[in-house]
Amino acid sequence: MNTNNTTIEATGEPLATSDVLIVGAGIIGLAHAALALDKGLSVTVIDRDHLAVGASVRNFGHACITAQSGELYELAQNGRKHWLAFARRAGFWAAESGALVVAGTRTELAVLREFAAARPPGQITLLDAESVRSRLGREDTAGILGGAFLADDLRVDPRTTVGTLAAWVDAGPGGRVMFNTAALGFGSGTRRTAAVHTSRGRLEADQVFVCVGHDVDYLFPELAAGHKIKRCTLQMTSAQAPAGTRIAEAVLTATSMLRYAAFTEVPSAEALRNEVSQQAPELLEIGANLMFTQRPDGTLLLGDSHAYHATADPFLAEDTTNRLLRAAQEVLGAGDLHLTERWQGIYASSEVAPLFIKDIGPGITAVSVTAGIGMTISFGLAERNLASL
Ligand SMILES: Cc1cc2nc3c(=O)[nH]c(=O)nc-3n(C[C@H](O)[C@H](O)[C@H](O)COP(=O)(O)OP(=O)(O)OC[C@H]3O[C@@H](n4cnc5c(N)ncnc54)[C@H](O)[C@@H]3O)c2cc1C
Repeated sequence: MNTNNTTIEATGEPLATSDVLIVGAGIIGLAHAALALDKGLSVTVIDRDHLAVGASVRNFGHACITAQSGELYELAQNGRKHWLAFARRAGFWAAESGALVVAGTRTELAVLREFAAARPPGQITLLDAESVRSRLGREDTAGILGGAFLADDLRVDPRTTVGTLAAWVDAGPGGRVMFNTAALGFGSGTRRTAAVHTSRGRLEADQVFVCVGHDVDYLFPELAAGHKIKRCTLQMTSAQAPAGTRIAEAVLTATSMLRYAAFTEVPSAEALRNEVSQQAPELLEIGANLMFTQRPDGTLLLGDSHAYHATADPFLAEDTTNRLLRAAQEVLGAGDLHLTERWQGIYASSEVAPLFIKDIGPGITAVSVTAGIGMTISFGLAERNLASL
């Protein structure tokens, strides 16, 4: 069994058995759990924490479907219907909001025009400055030349989605979620194919999915090193929205166009990178993807910067927050925003590939999304991974 130093022999009766066992109650683990229950399988989910507080609650809640490319675009589109269905069934908030890309220069508009031309009619609508202004609830169009509406994108509320989905899994027939239960090692079972040795005892299942996000290196250091997995740390803030502001869409800007694959594939992408490096080097220096979403309670989620480490640097640079805040205020055409929270998000990142899917041993598969799009592709990826069960 290729589990590095986490293999443990099973003796005695297991604490519990199920068809499927999921380690990690973030969105990747829960999407696998929810779709496995739908197949009529019994499912146990464990999480080492008392509630999920990983990447899945720290993000924008943006299913950024349109801006994906290739295999990831397919996974994102395939997951869309599941997001909407589980929002209804489990009772979490989801909106077919689309995304708004704000363009402030001719080069940004060129990228959007080329992107729209490459996609089916109706998926991307080019907007004039006045439409962008009105969608942002701004009073003027200063700094805005136009933009685009990406119709397929969805939004959920990141603070509440995984908690609600975990409760739904736990309440469903055949479902069980055990918090404060850490996976410590893996091996073969005596009753079922695979065993997970946890801080509460041994659990067995025919299929185990280890969905521990960026902490995959804690359990499988050699495999993680082979995939060059790093922790990407992101600085985020929340702020009170300017009075009366209701923005339905996830809002993206020029630096977003430098980060999401589908934008980077169009002919004008290189010109845009050069332009941003001249006009906003302070944003490129912090790896910014200047974007925001508005939660159902009206709060704005603002971000974000990107830095890459093996072990996350816990110290948040005030200067990074200030650069992002100034840029967000410009897009919103607002005065000073009143910050209400700051936090650090962490996700798994790899220059090798955006997906880390490894068979650890009989019936044990590690699954980590090694790019910042786990919300977007979670259900599509789970559907694909469960297809053979
Ligand atoms: C600031 C930020 C913004 C982002 N924005 C977006 C976005 O808008 N759209 C998008 O698609 N993606 C976004 N992402 C990426 C997305 O959030 C992640 O890809 C996704 O949440 C990863 O989900 P996960 O379930 O793998 O990890 P997590 O949500 O981190 O969950 C992993 C869980 O595993 C548990 N765990 C770890 N080790 C063990 C163990 N040994 N035993 C038991 N349990 C364990 C942890 O407690 C945790 O609850 C963003 C990420 C960040 C940080």
